[in-house]
Amino acid sequence: MRRLCGCGQKMDLGFRLVIFENKFQIDRVPILECEDCEYYEVLPAIKCDLTNLLAQLKDEGKGGRVLFTDVNEFADVLYSSYLTWKRTGDNQSFEELLEQGCDERINMLLDLYSCAKKASDSKWMNEISSRLAPLSKYVKERQCLETK
Ligand SMILES: [Zn+2]
Repeated sequence: MRRLCGCGQKMDLGFRLVIFENKFQIDRVPILECEDCEYYEVLPAIKCDLTNLLAQLKDEGKGGRVLFTDVNEFADVLYSSYLTWKRTGDNQSFEELLEQGCDERINMLLDLYSCAKKASDSKWMNEISSRLAPLSKYVKERQCLETK
């Protein structure tokens, strides 16, 4: 999650409002920022999801503000882990908190999924699958990185 800025400083996780084409506002976008030179970039892990969301917003032609954490389950877990981490200080590493948060959210969604399946509610099942997707993508990528 950490990377170095061009100036050699460590970049920190943060969240900010990103505006595209003066029209589409996406708030709480996870970014990496450098305090020294105020450079920032979108967190690589969510770049693809952000691009997809922007395409979807353009498609719908709706301007206005969207909370990225409302539409992306991984960003939501990332955001709440970040807030917990800021509050509790250095008791736990951020990565540990995030991992724990992802596991809990995945289990919660899987429980919901089995409810939806029992109810044979395919619309609900699809909705849960699409909420699970960014989380499982992240978990998979993390495992990839760890085994390398
Ligand atoms: Zn810098």
